[in-house]
Amino acid sequence: MVVRVLLVPVNGLDVRILDNVEPLVTESLGRGFRVLVSVWSATVPLAFYDFSRMQYRAEAINAYLSELFKDVVKPGRRLVVGVVEGDGYADDLNFVFGLATPGTGVASVYTRRLWIDAHLSFFLERLAKVITHEVGHLMGLPHCRNNCVMRFSNSLAELDAKPRFFCPSCRARLDRLVLDVDNEG
Ligand SMILES: [Zn+2]
Ligand SMILES: [Zn+2]
Repeated sequence: MVVRVLLVPVNGLDVRILDNVEPLVTESLGRGFRVLVSVWSATVPLAFYDFSRMQYRAEAINAYLSELFKDVVKPGRRLVVGVVEGDGYADDLNFVFGLATPGTGVASVYTRRLWIDAHLSFFLERLAKVITHEVGHLMGLPHCRNNCVMRFSNSLAELDAKPRFFCPSCRARLDRLVLDVDNEG
């Protein structure tokens, strides 16, 4: 068995972005995962966009995607990552690159900031990092202080400084979590 990760374009994101980032995410998630690209794209309600900040409410989007994909998602086993054309925020954070809602199997990531000073291949590298990080959270990994994709980053400099891959200790933990999924049948 593998854990399936479905990448879903949200609010007009070009699906070719997902086609291009998929091999990178497949590589960084590594063994135990299969990454799929949805050509069906989701549209979230206007109410989730905060016009005073020009940002999406990430928690509301995750809750919405959870409801939308309730027959598809199985926490720890079939995950959905909405890739949103726009910027997002959550709680007291002035922005988020991505947000995972643990226990639901749903995360969202936000592309707008990732384009800053980036050509396409650099943008895709950043996007793959953010997606890999949020999938790590969905599988139950916490933040990590090592040179690791699970290191917390709340600036582009921090995002660019960390690798796209899991450190050996997160990798070992992830392998066990994937194995637990297998054992549950
Ligand atoms: Zn995180
Ligand atoms: Zn780590």
